[in-house]
Amino acid sequence: MRALWRHENGMMNIIEVPEPSIERDDDVKIKVMYNTIGIQDLRMKRSWDFYAKGGIAGYEMAGVITDLGDHARAKGFYIGQKVTGTVVKFCGDCLYCQKGQENNCLQLDVNSGTLCDVIVWDVNQILPLPSAVTTFEIGCLLEPVAVVYMAAQKIQITVDDNVCIFGGDFNGLVLLQLAKLLGARTVTVVEAKKHNRDLAQQLGADYVIDPFNENLETELFRVSDFIGFQKVAITSSQPNLISTAFNVTARGGTVLTTVYFSQDQRISINSVKFFAMNITITSSFLYTKQLLHETRNLLPKLKLKGLISQEYSFEDFAAAFSAEQHSCFPRIGIKMAD
Ligand SMILES: [Zn+2]
Repeated sequence: MRALWRHENGMMNIIEVPEPSIERDDDVKIKVMYNTIGIQDLRMKRSWDFYAKGGIAGYEMAGVITDLGDHARAKGFYIGQKVTGTVVKFCGDCLYCQKGQENNCLQLDVNSGTLCDVIVWDVNQILPLPSAVTTFEIGCLLEPVAVVYMAAQKIQITVDDNVCIFGGDFNGLVLLQLAKLLGARTVTVVEAKKHNRDLAQQLGADYVIDPFNENLETELFRVSDFIGFQKVAITSSQPNLISTAFNVTARGGTVLTTVYFSQDQRISINSVKFFAMNITITSSFLYTKQLLHETRNLLPKLKLKGLISQEYSFEDFAAAFSAEQHSCFPRIGIKMAD
């Protein structure tokens, strides 16, 4: 079968690899129909980087089941079913998995990638597409939406909150929609790219601000009634915005990051401010298994189609990755099969 192989030096090309087959009762074989890629797919292999793995590229897919083991069948899956899933394998046995906190699993593992004709995943990684989701491209987005949904749960947005989101890429634009659904008083998006600022506007942001605005902090205080934001989310891996994020957080507010920076980047805050302002600093990585399943119901309530800015065929992968590298679109679609 065809597979897009990412070499250690970052080079990518389509190669022929053996097609995987069902070996265990829990295995599900899927014909991959569609992939979505984002800026995180362009990371080079770095030993400390969770997402930068060599081998077959990609990890957001939707497809059709073509074969499955007996245990997967007993769980209700069937040949011809449209599915999506997560490339992440939770161990199921550790202290955290036992408590339903799989995002803290002590033995997280990831499958090889999804930019290939066929994958075999464990039944625990697979979810049926919601009936209201009729296209494979939206199905691909279940996993990345779950990442943002988990962050939204953790930051606990309420109706009184002024929310500020640093970064209007995929995570920021989905969090914006969730904050609006949760009834936030105002949502402000800070984003450098005009294309994404326009999307934020269309998706209902109350204020959209370019971080290169020389009065950025003053402007952020102005739109937050000069007391700052109760909820601040950092979804952009631009480290120069970290200090601004802390500066514009209101007394008693929460700052949450959905991203990480370079390995030597520190997140620091003045200790007096941290103490006297009752600030909470937190992060959100992955999702629990239950929340991943709940995201199926959320998917039809979000405007996601506009977040896939361009579509390419599998053979045109180089153009797809190049467009992503140059424009940092929220997502780009790669059609694997008709
Ligand atoms: Zn575990």
